[in-house]
Amino acid sequence: MKKIFLTLLASVFSLSAAFAQHFDDYFIDRTLRVNYFHIGDHQSESMEIHHYTAGGVWSGTRSFLIEPNFYGDIAIEVFDSLTNKLIYSRSYSCLFTEYKTTERAKTEVARMEECVNVPFPKKTVRLKFTSYDRKRNSEVLYDGYYNPRTTPTQPMKKEYKVMTLHKGNTPGKAIDILFIPDGYAKKDKKVLKHDMKRFASYVMNCSPYKDMASKVNIRAIEGYSEQSGITQPQNNIYVKTLLNCAYNALDLDRYLMCLGVWNMHDVADDAPYDAIVIICNSEKYGGGGIYNFYCTVYNHGDYPDYVIVHEMGHLIGGLADEYYTSDVSVQDFYPAGIEPVEPNVTTLVDFDSKWKSMLDKSTPVPTPEVKKDDPNFDRLGVYEGGGYVAKGVYRPALHCTMHQIRYNDFCPVCHKVLEEVIDYYAK
Ligand SMILES: [Zn+2]
Repeated sequence: MKKIFLTLLASVFSLSAAFAQHFDDYFIDRTLRVNYFHIGDHQSESMEIHHYTAGGVWSGTRSFLIEPNFYGDIAIEVFDSLTNKLIYSRSYSCLFTEYKTTERAKTEVARMEECVNVPFPKKTVRLKFTSYDRKRNSEVLYDGYYNPRTTPTQPMKKEYKVMTLHKGNTPGKAIDILFIPDGYAKKDKKVLKHDMKRFASYVMNCSPYKDMASKVNIRAIEGYSEQSGITQPQNNIYVKTLLNCAYNALDLDRYLMCLGVWNMHDVADDAPYDAIVIICNSEKYGGGGIYNFYCTVYNHGDYPDYVIVHEMGHLIGGLADEYYTSDVSVQDFYPAGIEPVEPNVTTLVDFDSKWKSMLDKSTPVPTPEVKKDDPNFDRLGVYEGGGYVAKGVYRPALHCTMHQIRYNDFCPVCHKVLEEVIDYYAK
């Protein structure tokens, strides 16, 4: 079944305005995790539920049970089974959507682990998963029921010590960021502890996190790997680690990802979490971040402070990269005539929905670029080039942490998006 995404978006907004349901009417303070396979190739996709897990507390929002921002490739919607009322929704992206666009997907079917957490329902609910392509056409991947009394569900188990690195508030009143170390053996205990603190300080010294410190929690799982280092299949280096992260995801040398997503969440659920950041013990440059899915960073290198906050911009803010190249292979990344979902880039198809209201009235659209020493260098504008594409896609600023290697320099648009996300989790 295909339909246009905007119709759904409009209905979601009207639904959220029409009823502000209370968390306690439908849910208890516990997390239900739906673990499934996302299967398919460049043309078709499907999903297969594998198992359910439940336990812990609910660390997500209790006020915005209906997702206000559909930035992701997948939407999960939870309906009350008796009334068919939408009682929870969430948008996120996944590695499979990127896989679909690769050469490999033309000849090979992938079967990727994915999962999503929802608040634990009091009564039977209907779960509906919908996927969106870059033109925002949608396809329902799954539509079925979960009964909290009869559907087989595995309990979450406590296995690891949890380090508290920054405490702003209780889990329901803050964004809960969780670090998981990968590739640190027992002998690396000192390095692990030092790195977790070091990366937490990079986050907490960066705005808006530092200005909203009472709404941010950072914890780390103290989990050790059998061996030190991270797998590099392209160099025939294989390392036994806690999460089995590996470089060369989707055949891209520096793309560092974790394919064992279910295990990652089994490790994570010893602590409340809204966002998982995997810190990899490796000297090789690499990382990656997918919206509301997880992100990875490596622990060495010259700019680890910049890398973690940049990747977290993708992870929690759904922010696009603001850099671009003239490489033609990416010219189709934003289809013509479609406004991108990412809040910090626009094709000017629907600029009203982006940062238009933040612009000074005298600012020309598009805005001409100026040099670093020009008084207008910091001006919020609409600059051509962004989201990997040189022409037809526009970004808000000449400098931003989502554009260049500049730590603690989110442009006003990205800054505002991140502030709103932190508030989303804190309410
Ligand atoms: Zn920006």
